[in-house]
Amino acid sequence: MTTQELKNKILEAKKETGTVILAHTYQEPDIIDVADVTGDSFFLSKKAAELKAKRVVMCGVRFMAESVKILSPETETILPVASATCPMAEQILPERVREFKEENPDTQVVAYINTTAALKAECDVCVTSSSAIKIVKKLEGKDILFIPDQHLGSFVAKNVPEKNIILWDGYCPVHAQLTKEDVIECKKKYPDAVFAVHPESPKEVVELADMVGATSDIIKYAKEQKGNVIIGTERGVVDYLSPHEENGERFIQLAPEKLCCEDMKKISLEDVYKAIIGEGGEKVELDEALRKKALVSINRMLELG
Ligand code: SF4
Repeated sequence: MTTQELKNKILEAKKETGTVILAHTYQEPDIIDVADVTGDSFFLSKKAAELKAKRVVMCGVRFMAESVKILSPETETILPVASATCPMAEQILPERVREFKEENPDTQVVAYINTTAALKAECDVCVTSSSAIKIVKKLEGKDILFIPDQHLGSFVAKNVPEKNIILWDGYCPVHAQLTKEDVIECKKKYPDAVFAVHPESPKEVVELADMVGATSDIIKYAKEQKGNVIIGTERGVVDYLSPHEENGERFIQLAPEKLCCEDMKKISLEDVYKAIIGEGGEKVELDEALRKKALVSINRMLELG
């Protein structure tokens, strides 16, 4: 079967079964082609809730499928490849957060949305990379534990100096590999290019950027520029931008050998098809008490952000 034939089968099966395909922007272009909605992780879960989807196939990693389930408990949510997980989402155990809160009752725990539902259930508020600064500024207390990403946490701490932010030592293994030498080398090749980077990157890389933002912010910024843009995030973003823009070749991937998330790339078109027809993937379920606790942190994020 050719790729196009398989895509056609997916589109048919999607209609027959009333399934909505959500795809994170880091997914392979073929998967983006068959998706109903593409975007950042939290945007996708909000979209699933808005669409009141009965059945969703979430092309991304496990915490994203869990976020869909937190917001839409009635929606049957399928992760096409059960082993697609985000290593950063589990770099602190929920028990450790509970212990920390007992030892530090006046410190608020802020969790990046890239965490498991079990961690969301233990924290005081969630944040996305685009809402983190705004939300942390609005928190009443001064003392904050930011989990799990030390790089996003340090970016927030720099922008909200009035807070005392303790950083957990987690990191995204993809973005954390970037070095300032990667940027300097790329800028030598493209001296007129502006540089946009994700805040999951190390501080010395972020300091060299013209723009720092979440995936969706990077996409918006890149489209608005007239000239070349160096993209400092997972390479799916350049794959996404290039065919969607007339002059797509002006988007330059920083360190392509490093910026590839293996977990995000685990899902194939075959996996998506099998998930739709009920022959593959994993139905993601959450304990109802845990889901409700996790929802409190997300709702607080929505109120403050
Ligand atoms: S790019 Fe990083 S944060 Fe995103 S899913 Fe992969 S490992 Fe997790």
